[in-house]
Amino acid sequence: MKNQVQLITYVDRLSGGGLSELRALLNGHLRGIFGGVHLLPFFNPIDGADAGFDPIDHTEVDSRLGTWEDVGTLSEDFELTADLIVNHISSKSLQFQDYYRQGPDSQFAGMFLTYDRVFPLGASEADLLRIYRPRPELPFTNVRLESGERRLLWTTFAAQQIDVDVDHPQCRAYLAAILERFRSARIRLIRLDAIGYAIKKPGTSCFMIPETFRFIALLAAQARALGMEVLVEVHSHYLQQLEIARKVDWVYDFALPPLVLHSLFTGDARPLAHWLTIRPYNSVTVLDTHDGIGVIDVGADGEGEPGLLASAEIDQLVETIHSRSQGESRRATGAAANNLDLYQVNCTFYDALGRRGNEYLIARAVQFFVPGVPQVYYVGLLAGTNDMDLFARTRVGRDVNRHYFTPGEIQSAVANPVVHNLLALIDLRNTHPAFEGQVQVESPFNHVLTITWKRDGHLAKLEVDFSEPHALITYSTADGVQQRALGILAPKDQ
Ligand code: BGC
Repeated sequence: MKNQVQLITYVDRLSGGGLSELRALLNGHLRGIFGGVHLLPFFNPIDGADAGFDPIDHTEVDSRLGTWEDVGTLSEDFELTADLIVNHISSKSLQFQDYYRQGPDSQFAGMFLTYDRVFPLGASEADLLRIYRPRPELPFTNVRLESGERRLLWTTFAAQQIDVDVDHPQCRAYLAAILERFRSARIRLIRLDAIGYAIKKPGTSCFMIPETFRFIALLAAQARALGMEVLVEVHSHYLQQLEIARKVDWVYDFALPPLVLHSLFTGDARPLAHWLTIRPYNSVTVLDTHDGIGVIDVGADGEGEPGLLASAEIDQLVETIHSRSQGESRRATGAAANNLDLYQVNCTFYDALGRRGNEYLIARAVQFFVPGVPQVYYVGLLAGTNDMDLFARTRVGRDVNRHYFTPGEIQSAVANPVVHNLLALIDLRNTHPAFEGQVQVESPFNHVLTITWKRDGHLAKLEVDFSEPHALITYSTADGVQQRALGILAPKDQ
């Protein structure tokens, strides 16, 4: 993956159209900003039960967005990342519909995980309670097949997302067909969506168990043989992330957003600085994505292993997001807002900071200086605010951070000083040679963090004083060393 800032976006919600409109935008208003683009699910359909994460046909591009040729054309200009939705398919898929009609006689019957198939010897209460899930309920949906027969099917997420048995030959063939499609469209990086839940084994948590690691290795080998790298998407305890990172090409640094917020909210840089000394470098760094801000990633695990923040600090963090966003995130988070993952706070990152432009730029600067490849979500790119209208219409909490931009909105966002400064930061991160060199992270005082990159006489250094907060970037140029202060925008300027 290119060591440059990447964009993560829905095709239609940013471009107001399909793949050609997105290409025009990325080569127009947003020209020269991104090294790569993660296209959030663009498969058929993009507007099912989970914004594309419940494909009916994963090998087909939603015709409202364009075709595989359009994806291929975009890949000529940008390194593309696509989701491989491994764990489940839509209940409207051909495969599930066939099973619905023919039951055990369906050629696809083996793809689906009935309770009996996972627990042929039955399950004890302890077995069921051990299953790890993004929500407290059990992962089963009571489905009535056409014959009238009732089955309990494993559904980790929504009832319309039917989990598949990734060990079954039909499923292996299904995944291989998608990979082949990706290869022919020259996708460079595959995001293994919700992969942690893919393997179910009685008596275990059914989450990131040794068999899951083996399955990831297998998929990664398959992808690499087709010229693609693999990014693993798992929200979990940080020690588990460290273990995953040792075994795969790329992981997400999901601990970074809550830790940056914690430092900005409290002035305390210690948990962030500590994480920066132990975290894996093969990370895609994020502050925001199409999902909420994860807090599991900095929390303790269920077995007494502490997290990166104490639970009182996490409570405080979440409360501060709610108060800075004027209560909007509180309304969009939790069970009341149809959330598939209750442990994520739904809020744009800009609103989580109470629209304080200076703090937003500091957060982005930290993200860009932290080792790894930075990814910027389209709403964050435009310093977007919570879309409470969309949320009111759909009642989907994550929609507060999934705005549909119009061309006019993009034009005015690009003129916003916060966005303007953000684009300059992205440019520095993409073009300064020091970011190809060695990095040093220091925290000389509890409230101060410095990250210094050096290479062959080139220098890029970020110093953040979280107590103010205030940040300074020092960088070498052909005309000598320059300094740029961040935090130049007072809230009244926004
Ligand atoms: C995606 C979510 C999605 C879930 C189920 C994830 O982790 O990022 O948006 O709801 O997988 O596919």
